[in-house]
Amino acid sequence: MKNKPKKPFVPDERQETVRKNIISVLEEQPLSAKDISGLVRIPEKAVYDHLQHIQKSVTRRGLSLIIAPSECKKCGFVFEKREKFKKPGKCPECRNEAITEPVYSIKSV
Ligand SMILES: [Zn+2]
Repeated sequence: MKNKPKKPFVPDERQETVRKNIISVLEEQPLSAKDISGLVRIPEKAVYDHLQHIQKSVTRRGLSLIIAPSECKKCGFVFEKREKFKKPGKCPECRNEAITEPVYSIKSV
């Protein structure tokens, strides 16, 4: 049995810095979670948590986090109604597992 905590302890200040970095890279260009993870040097898994927080916090600054939805590479099905940030595992139409990465960007509303 593993008794590991879900998230490692990270001070809030560092979290804030990471979020600011993510916001500034997304203001420059649309990026996938993988791209963000490479640029900001955090695990891809952590990117999703930050994006969730960023989505709420940027609204107060008159900005909006835009998500270009995933698409099935085989039949072109678009995962428009998906509310989670992570890439879906499988296409509900054709069961294909080749799905494009959702791409995130930040724009002023
Ligand atoms: Zn499909």
